[in-house]
Amino acid sequence: DNPVQRKPDWIRVRAPSSPVYAETRGLMRDHKLVTVCEEAACPNIGECWSQRHATMMIMGEICTRACSFCNVATGLPHALDAGEPERVADAVAKLGLRHVVVTSVDRDDLADGGAGHFARTIAAIRAASPGTTIEILTPDFLRKPGALEIVVAARPDVFNHNIETVPRLYPGIRPGARYYQSVRLLDDVKRLDPSIFTKSGMMLGLGEERMEVLQVMDDFRIADVDFLTLGQYLQPTPKHAAVARFVSPAEFDDYAAAARAKGFLQVSATPLTRSSYHADADFAALRDA
Ligand code: SF4
Ligand code: SF4
Repeated sequence: DNPVQRKPDWIRVRAPSSPVYAETRGLMRDHKLVTVCEEAACPNIGECWSQRHATMMIMGEICTRACSFCNVATGLPHALDAGEPERVADAVAKLGLRHVVVTSVDRDDLADGGAGHFARTIAAIRAASPGTTIEILTPDFLRKPGALEIVVAARPDVFNHNIETVPRLYPGIRPGARYYQSVRLLDDVKRLDPSIFTKSGMMLGLGEERMEVLQVMDDFRIADVDFLTLGQYLQPTPKHAAVARFVSPAEFDDYAAAARAKGFLQVSATPLTRSSYHADADFAALRDA
């Protein structure tokens, strides 16, 4: 037993048991949809699914990357499923979501990195649920010229792309990605369509220093990133990157205050924050403000 990996008291999760949880699970199975909630072994699944908040992961469950924090399998993905956008749209309508988050694996194997599939999924959700706001959480589209433009043209309400960690830790944590590519991607979204909200997030507890976190916040503000999420990294299995440390709730509060002072429109920074955690309520608050 590694004492560093033992979770502190403030990481408490409720066991999934409610009838709505079971309903959400059944709907995902019936529609043959993959969720990041399950694939990432997210600690909030009991709470989120009991409110029908499932984050669907499109383009399969096999990723072309191998980030050391991530529970998704790496390998050669399957061909795209042309019926998936419609099934996602149907599930969103059945769940009655006001706000939906759709993410994907990274598809370096596809010429457009999966941009077209994202755009088709956004269009299908819009057609079936015109009142639902759409948040996408995308790959970095590294070396996929033109891909970003395709996704932006589909006009998601929120474009989220996670930076995950500070640049110094990229080689060990996010090999295959480039810090500045990710910052530039967010910057480019704003330049292509300033009406789209941009969002990014980081996992804390991987060995980053406070000054490095503050520097990333500054990089985000220069790129006009609107929303920020910070959460505690949890090791999905012993094969994954170890937790360097558990960041206390007080430190999260301190980061949240610093982020608000830097001008982010919306900040979520708690140990259990994930990019899609409470995304519905957060976006509703902004929309209705
Ligand atoms: Fe799913 Fe996001 Fe909720 Fe986790 S926080 S269970 S990934 S919706
Ligand atoms: Fe996981 Fe995304 Fe990295 Fe793929 S690119 S391994 S899905 S974090």
